[in-house]
Amino acid sequence: MSRNLYDLIGLVAAVCFILALKGLSHPKTARRGNLIGAAGATIATLLVFFFTGNKGEAEYHSLPLHHFGLIIGAVALGLLVGVPAARKVQMTQMPQLVALFNGVGGGAAALVAIVEYLKLGSGASTAAVYATVFTVIVGSVSFSGSIITFAKLQELMTTRPVVFPGGRFLIAANLAGVFAAGAWVINSGGNKPLLVLGGLSLLFGVLFVLPVGGADVPIVISLLNAFTGLTVAASGYVLQTTLLIVAGTLVGASGTILTRLMAEAMGRSLFKTLFGAFTAKPQEASGATEVRPVKSGSPEDVAILLNYARRVVIVPGFGLAVAQAQHTVREMADVLAAKGIDVAYGIHAVAGRMPGHMNVLLAEANVPYEQLQEMDEVNPTFAQTDVALVIGANDVVNPAAKNSPGCPIYGMPILEVADAANVVFLKRSMRPGFAGIENELLYDPKTTLLFGDAKDTLTKVVSALKNL
Ligand code: NDP
Repeated sequence: MSRNLYDLIGLVAAVCFILALKGLSHPKTARRGNLIGAAGATIATLLVFFFTGNKGEAEYHSLPLHHFGLIIGAVALGLLVGVPAARKVQMTQMPQLVALFNGVGGGAAALVAIVEYLKLGSGASTAAVYATVFTVIVGSVSFSGSIITFAKLQELMTTRPVVFPGGRFLIAANLAGVFAAGAWVINSGGNKPLLVLGGLSLLFGVLFVLPVGGADVPIVISLLNAFTGLTVAASGYVLQTTLLIVAGTLVGASGTILTRLMAEAMGRSLFKTLFGAFTAKPQEASGATEVRPVKSGSPEDVAILLNYARRVVIVPGFGLAVAQAQHTVREMADVLAAKGIDVAYGIHAVAGRMPGHMNVLLAEANVPYEQLQEMDEVNPTFAQTDVALVIGANDVVNPAAKNSPGCPIYGMPILEVADAANVVFLKRSMRPGFAGIENELLYDPKTTLLFGDAKDTLTKVVSALKNL
């Protein structure tokens, strides 16, 4: 195949990646965007699989590939693990899966760069050596950091920030060690310095993520995702593959934008997200053992409250996804609308367990997109709202984010449901949300608690509403 044709096909794949990102930016076109991205990845994989060549050559040659059996074996193993995992995963566990896949990608890019670097030996250009050092550091950090985020989200370990005396000094010393090992690789080359660099970078990934609190983990996943993109771009440089450079840069850039948007939604700087635990004041005991009165109601009580409202704002959260109650919510909203009640959905940027989680969930139940209102739009309307119906949400409406300096979500903008005339929480117990902090709003006199699985209780509310 001529070099020009090879580059042209590569360009088609790169354009597919760009169109995929464009498509993914809106729920209506997201599915198509995903398919276009997958098509681009397939074209890119087939191209590099069947044609090889060196920069400067006029012709790219078809097979034979070296180690064909090993490559097919690795692909088969990846398919065997990846496909069932992606098919079976619950939507609520998607961030863990993304974290895991992302980490593996970063680790793989680092390994590929190491192998290529060792192959080049003393013939490696200065730029290739720097790119290898960068790839090994960032790829290893992305790998070990992603494993820790996975463990936190899967609740295999505490979701609270892990800080210990001298922690910040250990991190600083570790970082200095990483830089020193990087300089060693650049000056001496060889296996041993690379091994030390990889090991210290892996340790840094662990130490870097441990102090991040559960509520901030999604931001870190997005950051590590951006890291993986940059690693892939740098390994593309080592391998002299334009496709890898384009794909890696796109992931790096989009991951960086998403990280910034998420940090903004949480109302904090990235630095505070990553290192805030070191400066946070110790939390006072929450008094969890103290039993305080709350007002609980029946589905019929809630139906009556809703029936006489003029405006209802539904605030969905992680619990709605757990209960898979999106279709029942839609049914209830239809019943309310038929009664002439104004219904809107208040969507918090980090509600649920992944960016856009609530949008996807509600789109599945064909909730009209126009009814979804983001924080800036819906917050000023709570004062004219008769009932704020909080379904399986907690952290995103918790006033502690405004009132308790030092708490893990302090500074995060919240949905101001307390401004509504009545607040109804649908949840199963008095347990806190993901960040593990109590919600004072549950004890407010204007709050009614409807205990139970959201799907069960909502079904009862809908049938009571229909009878009114
Ligand atoms: P929370 O985790 O704060 O609260 C979820 C609530 O749902 C809990 O109060 C729980 O109470 C209730 N619940 C769970 N299952 C059910 C059920 N079957 N029926 C009824 N209620 C149920 O969720 P939010 O959406 O308010 O906040 C999201 C949190 O997750 C934030 O802290 C955010 O930072 C974090 N996060 C967000 C990510 C993102 O990208 N969106 C990714 C990862 C984390 P009970 O147990 O009593 O039922």
